[in-house]
Amino acid sequence: MNVGVIGGGAAGLAAAYELIKQGHQATVFERAPFLGGQASTFDVGGARLERGYHHLFVSDVDMVALMSELGLGPRLAWISSKVGLYHGGRIWNFVTPLDLLRFRGIGLLDRLRLGAVTLLLNREKDWRRLEPYTAAGWLPARVGQAAYRAVWEPLLRGKFGERYDQVGMTWFWGKIALRFASRGRGMAKEKLGYPMGSFGEIFDTLGEFIRSKGGRVYTSAAVRRVVVEEGRAVGLEVELPGQGVTVEPFDAVVATVPSYIFPRLVPTLPKTYEEKLAGVTYLAAVLVILELKQPISQIYWLNIADRSIPFVAVIGHTNFVGPEHYGGKHLVYLSNYLGRENPMYFMKHQELLDAYLPHLQKLNPQFSLSWIENSHYHREDAAQPVVGVNYSRQIPEHHTPIRNLYLANTTQVYPEDRGTNYSVRLGRKVARILLKDYGFPVSGELPKPAIPSSVTVQMES
Ligand SMILES: Cc1cc2nc3c(=O)[nH]c(=O)nc-3n(C[C@H](O)[C@H](O)[C@H](O)COP(=O)(O)OP(=O)(O)OC[C@H]3O[C@@H](n4cnc5c(N)ncnc54)[C@H](O)[C@@H]3O)c2cc1C
Repeated sequence: MNVGVIGGGAAGLAAAYELIKQGHQATVFERAPFLGGQASTFDVGGARLERGYHHLFVSDVDMVALMSELGLGPRLAWISSKVGLYHGGRIWNFVTPLDLLRFRGIGLLDRLRLGAVTLLLNREKDWRRLEPYTAAGWLPARVGQAAYRAVWEPLLRGKFGERYDQVGMTWFWGKIALRFASRGRGMAKEKLGYPMGSFGEIFDTLGEFIRSKGGRVYTSAAVRRVVVEEGRAVGLEVELPGQGVTVEPFDAVVATVPSYIFPRLVPTLPKTYEEKLAGVTYLAAVLVILELKQPISQIYWLNIADRSIPFVAVIGHTNFVGPEHYGGKHLVYLSNYLGRENPMYFMKHQELLDAYLPHLQKLNPQFSLSWIENSHYHREDAAQPVVGVNYSRQIPEHHTPIRNLYLANTTQVYPEDRGTNYSVRLGRKVARILLKDYGFPVSGELPKPAIPSSVTVQMES
């Protein structure tokens, strides 16, 4: 088969990789001048850094398997994570479960309830039971308002900004289940993974593999339209660098673009499917990245539980992967997840710096503007689908109503949180579904997922 793949992020490259491994041909078209999509990198201090902070969990078995298949296994480092919470004017460590007991931002009884409910959630195996509830409704009823406001609401706001109160309880459950899986037996310190050449190295290696087997990978190549004839996808209209607009015939097409882009590429998409796509909203990640002479704190992942501070998380990347890898620079992301109704979504780099920087002294009174050597701005529009209640009913099918046309995007990841691991899984899975549809044999198995009951795995397989 000869398959056209729209998008050169984790899902698109994994789909092409799987098709080629199974003995078929694939061509990837990526609109941006680089591969990797949301997990792409730029250069800082002589090394590559993700535009948005990235790490792996121990439960990310698909990414670990892929790295090993590509010969990148030795590049994967597992590093103890340092998580913290800014609450009541100071930073609290949340590295080990004992830190919860030491957290005096709430009373002892509240801390014990918080610990007990976390353990209960981890033992819950049937996520469908939690589907009708929002996390903002379910959690405070179990742990009390004080504990919820101090610890879990900031976590939800850190991922969903102002839409935190719409998030389904199943999403929260998935987060707890995967974080426990990352701790292993005995509740040891959590380890997080990082590919020491950056996530960009994985995508470039995938691209090289595809090309080495006769596939094609184009960057700066925007797909303008899926060519549909008699209800079947038969090709792609693409703007290729230096060649203008051309139409390329394909036996089938896999699209990995966000749900709001997909209908623009397929104007004949039936209304019912289009409505399903429109049913899920995305939040944008707005990121300011600082290159500093010294660290602001020793914490890698700091949730901010103080609404007077205009960002929701501070990710000290070089408290995870040391500054020696980035020419001695200390790298910090100031993060927000925003809808388009939020004025900060439209703010320019300098405006955000003006709004954010005065607050850094709250986190570290010694902080001075003279520590800043450089800064960067990045916005990712399709960063986070808002995973609401009864979300499993909203997930669009991989088989679109157009024959030979398949969709694999982050709105189809559930109940886990979206991530590179699940995009790799989606891409490989959709490639296998496609081949089976055409009656081709498919060899090998995908790794067993960390949450065995996941929709990501069971849907349509
Ligand atoms: C701030 C942030 C932090 C994150 N942190 C983590 C983390 O710690 N760990 C983790 O595993 N994951 C993390 N993620 C999530 C992870 O990056 C994504 O889930 C994953 O990369 C999505 O891959 P994808 O291929 O499904 O989608 P995308 O990466 O969005 O790829 C889709 C591609 O399609 C391209 N495209 C769009 N339209 C067209 C067109 N018309 N023609 C051709 N190409 C087109 C886009 O340019 C894009 O490259 C994070 C994401 C963000 C934003």
